[in-house]
Amino acid sequence: MKTHVLPQLPYELDALAPAMSRETMEYHYGKHHQAYVNNLNNLLPGSGLEDASLEQIIVGAPQGGLLNNAAQVYNHTMFFLSLSPSAKKEPSGPLAEAIKRDFGSTEALRDQIGKAGAALFGSGWVWLARAKGGKLSLVSSPNAGNPLVQSLTPLLNIDVWEHAYYIDYRNRRPDFLTAIWDIVDWAAVEKRF
Ligand code: MN
Repeated sequence: MKTHVLPQLPYELDALAPAMSRETMEYHYGKHHQAYVNNLNNLLPGSGLEDASLEQIIVGAPQGGLLNNAAQVYNHTMFFLSLSPSAKKEPSGPLAEAIKRDFGSTEALRDQIGKAGAALFGSGWVWLARAKGGKLSLVSSPNAGNPLVQSLTPLLNIDVWEHAYYIDYRNRRPDFLTAIWDIVDWAAVEKRF
């Protein structure tokens, strides 16, 4: 059986402050993300998906704990690896062209992500995703959702579960969705694109 592990981060836990404090990282990465990894490893034996990749589990597992925990491992790994204390603050090259084509501008895209995140009822994720033909779109997914199940390629995701912002922003989800752009590293998104 494949054993899933918490990914190492290329920055220190206090490096994303003030947008995301050390305490938030200690809980969100150190406890929540770790718990999803542990749950996944505990649920895999006997599932028939012991050696599957996270992507294979997300598109192939039935509704339930295994699917939810595998998706949350994937989702959090993408989220934390999209952040950097030395973030590239604007996309460039082909990604910037595609954003301009499909959203008008990067500023308009950020604004739409903020609005989608504020409007998402309860826990979930807002995604920038790419369809097979190349068109970019936003996806709002509740709970552990992931655009892979819609045959879309995830490029960027923003966690809007309360655990992502409650320590630093309390109930002010929109403030979190504004501050996050200080640490979203468009270089990471360009690589996925
Ligand atoms: Mn989270």
